[in-house]
Amino acid sequence: MMQKKQLCILGSTGSIGTQTLDVVRRHPDRYEVYAICAHRSIDLLIAQAREFRPDVVCIADESLYAPLRDALADMPVKVWSGADSIAEMVTMPSIDIVVASMVGYAGLRPTIEAIKAGKTIALANKETLVVAGEIICDLAVRHHTPILPVDSEHSAIFQSLVGEDRSEIEKILLTASGGPFRTYSLEQMKTVTAADALKHPNWDMGAKITIDSASMMNKGFEVIEAKWLFGVPVEKVQVLVHPQSIVHSAVQFTDGAIKAQLGAPDMRLPIQYALSFPERLKSDFPRADLFALKDLTFEEPDLARFPNLALAYEAMRQGGNMPCVLNAANEVANLAFRQGRCGFLQMSDIIRTTMTRTDFIHKPTYDDYVATDAAARRIAEELL
Ligand code: MG
Repeated sequence: MMQKKQLCILGSTGSIGTQTLDVVRRHPDRYEVYAICAHRSIDLLIAQAREFRPDVVCIADESLYAPLRDALADMPVKVWSGADSIAEMVTMPSIDIVVASMVGYAGLRPTIEAIKAGKTIALANKETLVVAGEIICDLAVRHHTPILPVDSEHSAIFQSLVGEDRSEIEKILLTASGGPFRTYSLEQMKTVTAADALKHPNWDMGAKITIDSASMMNKGFEVIEAKWLFGVPVEKVQVLVHPQSIVHSAVQFTDGAIKAQLGAPDMRLPIQYALSFPERLKSDFPRADLFALKDLTFEEPDLARFPNLALAYEAMRQGGNMPCVLNAANEVANLAFRQGRCGFLQMSDIIRTTMTRTDFIHKPTYDDYVATDAAARRIAEELL
């Protein structure tokens, strides 16, 4: 009999977390939920604990510890809370795979701890690689920890690279839906609201990443993510706006061949592939009907209307702690836009100015990243 893989899901109540649990639900013979963790969504976390019966349930917001403990008092489950508990939870010996799907900078520390403990990482939290890609990759090599991408584009690239030699990559072709404002003029983009931005044409995602998609910061982050995951300079990562979201990304090799992964836009497929790699598991997820597709189109991104993409390339060219600054300023601007405290285009101004005002560190340590994150957030807040 096959040993079931024990999962730890960080951010289990979010978009990736709930879809990961749906994959587990479909393969009870293969996966078991050992630990789940949420930021604040206590009701859903309780429901997940009752359905999946994990050994550990953790809530990041410590003020919710007592109600969570009381709600699960009849179950044989450890109830924990706070950032230190999350960092400890990911290292527990029974855990095989840590699904890192927390939102934003908060995912960095537990991911580092999980890598050090040698857990296979199914990585959905791209901010972790944006902020500290070099540290993460060095640690993963040192501790022989596989990092498997959950992001749909990076899963597509990863799938295209199976059986290939990475030194033969000529270019990575990273596709982008273009988001809800793909065809808007700069004038129109001045007055769009968070509600407009939250209507993503193809993907159903959390609020933070949906705004990042609309501003194309998400794609900028994914360029940086691709650099670290596949060891290519960002100059070799070409973004293609592909509104149909059927080609999830591709790799062009040194002989001119292009390999792509196609499919219906459904995050459960890349999640399942990260969990089952190198195997493929049967699924009844929706299939892409190629006959129904009128056309597959590819456009060059417009950096004048989507300056965040240019800012991400710039941050990576400068290197050091600059991508960390980019991420921190974006987290502040993204939240401010969702709260109606700044305009859509103003987000890029805040990020750009924060990048020029934060002290540059060429070779940052982990502590430097923590300090940079705090400093950049302060500067970005002052700009609002
Ligand atoms: Mg993506």
